[in-house]
Amino acid sequence: MQGLPYPLSSWAIVDESFSILSGHENWKMYNGLEFDEEFMKNIAEQKARHAELFLSTSRRPRRLFIKCVTDVSESKKTPLSLELDKARAEKIVSRTKRFHGRRVNWKNWRQFSAVADADSRKQVYDELVKKTPVIRPLIRAMFEKSWSVHRKYGTTPLRSYLESERITLADLKELVQKLGAAVRKPFREALQDFAMQIKRAPAEYYDDFYYFRGRIFRPLDKIFSKFDPAEMPVRQLKRLGFDTRRIHVDVEDRPKKTPSAVAFFVQIPNDARVLVKPISPYTDMEAAYHEFGHAMHCISVDPNLSLWDRESLSHGVAEIFSTFLESLVEDPRYLRKKFGLSDDQIREVTERRRFMELFFVAFYAANSLMKISFQEKKLTMDQASELYAKLYKEYVGFEIPGEYWQLHHVMPDYDLYSPSYLIAAVRKSELIKRLQSRLGEEWWDSPKTGDYLRKIMRPGANIDLDEFSRLDTGPFLKPILHP
Ligand SMILES: [Zn+2]
Repeated sequence: MQGLPYPLSSWAIVDESFSILSGHENWKMYNGLEFDEEFMKNIAEQKARHAELFLSTSRRPRRLFIKCVTDVSESKKTPLSLELDKARAEKIVSRTKRFHGRRVNWKNWRQFSAVADADSRKQVYDELVKKTPVIRPLIRAMFEKSWSVHRKYGTTPLRSYLESERITLADLKELVQKLGAAVRKPFREALQDFAMQIKRAPAEYYDDFYYFRGRIFRPLDKIFSKFDPAEMPVRQLKRLGFDTRRIHVDVEDRPKKTPSAVAFFVQIPNDARVLVKPISPYTDMEAAYHEFGHAMHCISVDPNLSLWDRESLSHGVAEIFSTFLESLVEDPRYLRKKFGLSDDQIREVTERRRFMELFFVAFYAANSLMKISFQEKKLTMDQASELYAKLYKEYVGFEIPGEYWQLHHVMPDYDLYSPSYLIAAVRKSELIKRLQSRLGEEWWDSPKTGDYLRKIMRPGANIDLDEFSRLDTGPFLKPILHP
């Protein structure tokens, strides 16, 4: 192996420039704005070549090695993911049902589900699942690409994932199964109650997580529509002493905008961008707090760290801070003080949030276990869908067409990701518990909370998780199992 023809610090500056350009273009694409597809493909090629240059000279530092392998894999997937994005809008389309004059497609499906009747929802669900064969080869090719790139460098996506999440495969499986098993009974009870309340009929297979999330908070729409989801989280972050000028938010509704709220770390720590597509007032507020939590993380990383210590933020760590900020909109005291909710309204929020949390765990237990097996055993697409149907039945409780996972916004796009939500949920609850015991029930009004958070987030990938987390499931499970 020969060394780089210039200093590693120069290599890092160029690498970061590519990330910034592709992040900016990606942001436009997800935001439903004009973007330059050829430029994106070009940048991806350059970025892959640049990462390969490093990999041809060194495998150390280890974190940079993993970052480069991931970057090569992601860059080489770019043409496929661009095609997938297009196919989702143009081919995953209902023949008959419309939303705001446009045919229901993958991108407005969730908005449609929040307002449509049961028959229409069933029809669209069945129709869109039947269309998955048009995206299936793209999804498959993305996984294959990732496997072949990792193989070339003597690793696997699963190994890199476990390493960056700092967990063993056995522990990860145990954690996911434990959480899934714990919620099984209370989730099903709550599901039947809320299905009767909301749709006046028992829950069906097509009443998915996103249907409930878009619908369940309707009784609270009136009060939450008085607040601006682009403004409330900003105020909260300012209260904690964060410099929110480095966060840009877009809550416009555009047909081509992605259905899920998302945050982009265009440049860490100077440029964070948040997108929220309006679905319903409470859900939008919740989504905005979540994404602003990501943005808070982005802007808090020490600018003097190496590129790989700034950028290599695992999903399981990133989701701690998003779900942390999001959990404010279920905190009774917070809702009373900042949103002026009455006791009855607070009860409405907490009961519904509890149910969505149970649903989240059941759904993500199935999602996570499927993806773990998928990566561990390199399953075929048919095996993956078959396993998914089995796990969905086991954890969520319904017979569904197993191809449903291919319509998710995270499952087909990432090597793993899903388990990170569960890891983070546990750690987030431990973090909140710690802040409560140190600073009292209204910790979110204390500037000391901001100081503590910045201290935790500042080291980027070198975060000291032991400072607040032992992966103790108690603080997360207790309130949802015994409300
Ligand atoms: Zn997130």
